[in-house]
Amino acid sequence: MRIFLSRSVDVEVTLFNDVANFLKAIPGAVIIDIPESVINMFPEDAEEDWPRPGFDEFYQKCEGLRQFSGGRIHKDDVVVFLSGIPNDQNWFSAFQLPTAKRNIFICTEDWEYYLPESKVHFGIAYQVVENCMQVLMDLNYEKPENASYIHTKSRGCLNDFCGDKRDIRLKIQTANICETCLDKIKSYPDANAFLPYAHFVMNAVRDKFINRPEVKAPEEILNSFELEIRPSLRSMRLCLGGKTLVQIELSGLRFSLYYTIIKFSEAYDGISPNQLAVRNTENREVFDFIRRIYHNNENESAITKLGTDSDMFSQYRSKINLQIKNEITKNYPNRPEGLLKKIQISPSKNGIYKVPFGGKIRVIE
Ligand SMILES: [Zn+2]
Repeated sequence: MRIFLSRSVDVEVTLFNDVANFLKAIPGAVIIDIPESVINMFPEDAEEDWPRPGFDEFYQKCEGLRQFSGGRIHKDDVVVFLSGIPNDQNWFSAFQLPTAKRNIFICTEDWEYYLPESKVHFGIAYQVVENCMQVLMDLNYEKPENASYIHTKSRGCLNDFCGDKRDIRLKIQTANICETCLDKIKSYPDANAFLPYAHFVMNAVRDKFINRPEVKAPEEILNSFELEIRPSLRSMRLCLGGKTLVQIELSGLRFSLYYTIIKFSEAYDGISPNQLAVRNTENREVFDFIRRIYHNNENESAITKLGTDSDMFSQYRSKINLQIKNEITKNYPNRPEGLLKKIQISPSKNGIYKVPFGGKIRVIE
């Protein structure tokens, strides 16, 4: 069984292609599209009050396609005819009885009353799969015993009748086939074989219609945090969306070391510990900065010492990192993964250390 998609001349070829390409991109069924068309549902000289065509007129076009295909369309293939001309019963779509005819038409007009205009082709693709399934499960709607499979009251099943056309959204969004209908499908081998493809299409369509919060990439989330540094209070605040999540106060030397490293991470992608001790013109930047934030000679010489004593530097680094970890764990237990690493002092390449925080850093003097 293959599905032949065709159209009448009034259906825009871009819309037709959108439907066909969407269906063809989903594996599990053979879709053959015939975008070129000479089929006109209206006679050339039609009056303005020309009556809407009945279902049979659409099915005749399907039969015509079969005949003109020169045997290319087989008896067990399904022909789906898309037309922009509304039918006399104003249905979205219908299939010919008996279902063994395997002819379907779908109206492509007026969908924008029920679905956003940019998503109309998804609704039409759903209709293709819906009608194919109904044909394959022999859902003859004229037989009373099929009444339990044609839901006049919508329940979010593929076989909801959607007498109120607005209900189409419900079944699109559930992407479901109810247990009752599923039981019937299982007793028709062709319908059962078509089921995986139908599910794939229904899920893909559903995906286009449900609202979900924007999902950010982990790195993007981490970069939306902000750090607020207050040197006069030796404190730093971790903020998100203008709200302070954690406030950390560090002792004099720890704060100075941390602040220095964060400052140089921003400007120079890190700092080598021995730069803390070297006082020459090349290192003027570090030197001036340290002098400015230490305020007194005692602290200044303490941090200079960190630059000459690598064990002491390591000790301070791990103390600062531990304090950051403890405070954040205590105040912000549900933090996103990777946040700690972004705030702690980490070794980078070539003996350089840095705070790889990617968000905005504000210094409030
Ligand atoms: Zn059902």
